[in-house]
Amino acid sequence: MSKKIQAIRGMNDILPEQSAVWRFLEATVKDVLGRYGYGEIRLPIVEYTDLFKRSIGEVTDIVEKEMYTFKDRNDESLTLRPEGTAGCVRAAEEHGMLYNQIQRLWYTGPMFRYEKPQKGRYRQFHQIGVETFGLQGPDIDAEVILMTAKLWQALGLSEHVTLQLNSLGSIEARATYRAELVSYLEARKDQLDEDSQRRLGTNPLRVLDSKDEKTQALLADAPSLMDFLDDDSREHFEGLTAILDAAGVTYEVNTRLVRGLDYYCKTVFEWVTSSLGAQGTVCAGGRYDGLVEQLGGKATPAVGFAMGVERLVLLLEAAGLTDQINSAPDFYVVGSAPETILLADRVRESLSQAVVQCHCGGGKFKKQMKKANDSGATYALIIGEDEAKNGQVVVKYLREEKDQITILQTELNAFFSALI
Ligand code: ATP
Ligand code: MG
Repeated sequence: MSKKIQAIRGMNDILPEQSAVWRFLEATVKDVLGRYGYGEIRLPIVEYTDLFKRSIGEVTDIVEKEMYTFKDRNDESLTLRPEGTAGCVRAAEEHGMLYNQIQRLWYTGPMFRYEKPQKGRYRQFHQIGVETFGLQGPDIDAEVILMTAKLWQALGLSEHVTLQLNSLGSIEARATYRAELVSYLEARKDQLDEDSQRRLGTNPLRVLDSKDEKTQALLADAPSLMDFLDDDSREHFEGLTAILDAAGVTYEVNTRLVRGLDYYCKTVFEWVTSSLGAQGTVCAGGRYDGLVEQLGGKATPAVGFAMGVERLVLLLEAAGLTDQINSAPDFYVVGSAPETILLADRVRESLSQAVVQCHCGGGKFKKQMKKANDSGATYALIIGEDEAKNGQVVVKYLREEKDQITILQTELNAFFSALI
């Protein structure tokens, strides 16, 4: 026998029971985003490698070690997208959607990063992302954050996530701060973890992100980014928090929140949960006013975020919210074809919301009833020989202690419409 081929590590199959939760999540998100007037943009999964190098930044985890990059047959370097912002900016610019315009966009789909697979961290994972363009003031930052808050409410997750907020200031302010931070950390270099020592020379702000406890303790007395903000960024941040306060959304200012990507400025935020261990960030975003220009367009202010679908599914499970997402059929039709097939279709036609599973494969009545039960269906609809002859059907309650009844097939619609 030849060896079985398995899925690639960190790239998961999503089986029917789980995909019901995914559909619930996606439908809820689409509904909320639609109601805020955001339009969907569908983007390619593969882009030129340079797009990611130029937007995400050479000295980031993603570009340094996480990208799936390959040469195509024409010797072009292509990359499976590790995130959605770069492609979204590329597309919006390419289609002339940015200059002097306002856009509110969202997208969803798989992203690819070569990471160490573990709970909540995969090599193919999925994001739902939002990008807005052309708006400079803090009101749009507030809108996207309030929209995510609305989403947690719609999903039933409000109690399980908290909002962390920071401002990275302007590029200049950050450069001043960076120099201060480097001199503070250089003096204590031997106490830093290995990754942080390396980052000190390449991307020192990422040291603030370190998960190492000793490094974190050391950072307690480090200079704070908030103290270095330029006036414009400070005003922007105050404007944002004023709107969040007015809307009653609580947040924690976390001056160590820097985000992994190079392109952020001013507002950055994360929604985090304590229910998923180390992979606690379920949604992250911020302002990236410089990116469009960096990719060759005219300067365009932009704010966006991305949420991790797998982590949200895990959180829905951890919060015990997935039981309500019922993928069981309403009806299971027992008997033999063609009567079963015809009846099942008639029920689907007359009760437009009903999920009807028809028994296929024949077999003894008892076995069929076991299948009906195992399917989780609420009712079994049984057509034996007699019922077939008389145009009748037996309705058996599978989840209630109630006597079964025999009715005419033509009465089924009225019977169930009265029940609902
Ligand atoms: P982390 O710090 O957890 O590595 P990140 O800063 O790299 O996250 P972003 O690039 O901001 O993540 O992506 C936005 C969201 O996408 C994250 O908050 C998370 O929910 C999700 N995400 C990122 N990487 C993965 C992954 N490898 N597997 C599953 N979800 C992920
Ligand atoms: Mg990461």
